[in-house]
Amino acid sequence: MSPDPLDVFWPAAEVEAAALTIDEMASWPTGVFEALTKVGLLREGRTASRVTCDACGESHVQEVTPVRYRDGTVRFFIRCPEHGRVEVDRSDLLQWSVDFKSIVQFLAAELATEGDVQERVPRRVWQIGRAALAGRSRPVWMGRGLSWPNASTLSGFLPAGKSPVLLVLGGAPRAGVLSLPPDSVVSLGQVLTLSGGEFDLDRRAIEDQLSASRGEGKQKSPVKRASRAAAIDVLESDLPPGVGPLPITDLC
Ligand SMILES: [Zn+2]
Repeated sequence: MSPDPLDVFWPAAEVEAAALTIDEMASWPTGVFEALTKVGLLREGRTASRVTCDACGESHVQEVTPVRYRDGTVRFFIRCPEHGRVEVDRSDLLQWSVDFKSIVQFLAAELATEGDVQERVPRRVWQIGRAALAGRSRPVWMGRGLSWPNASTLSGFLPAGKSPVLLVLGGAPRAGVLSLPPDSVVSLGQVLTLSGGEFDLDRRAIEDQLSASRGEGKQKSPVKRASRAAAIDVLESDLPPGVGPLPITDLC
């Protein structure tokens, strides 16, 4: 069985800029790039302004100079101490940006949500509408980068209360970022897969987890907790002192 392309995707999604070059994707298993572009998770973006020279074997990083010709063509060059002016292929400079909309749109369709999808914080927080899950109508949200040092700046844009369900892309949320019961927070990495060119969502795992919070106040048995594979059980609580919110730099 071939590996799930999303296993490669999750670490890329944890980087704030979420843009990749061909160089960075060179180590990916065959077919992963194709699978991620097919579902729209990777989209062609801008060209990189710096690149590693591959003409001399010194692996020095150089500024790229685009040269525009009168017929409209553009070629890219770098300066190599050994080889002088070296042309670089546009495909080597192309950056691929991660487009999270494809996941949001899939979730909206798969969960048959009602209401508009709203990106509350660009590339970080999405409100996906309401869906019938575990016996009640619930607002569905998706959040990204909730484990990052600047996660607390998202607090005012995230859902709160007992009914919402928050699907989390990336690491477990930092302590104090969320005002939700732990069972309402689902790690997307545990329930979303990509195979045969299509996303697949383990809706049952989500509903099982949400149902677990119904018996609020009851003692939860260790066996039951262990069976909830999708739960983010450990909210990050041991922040080093002095770690404060950082500005969100990808708001534009
Ligand atoms: Zn060189």
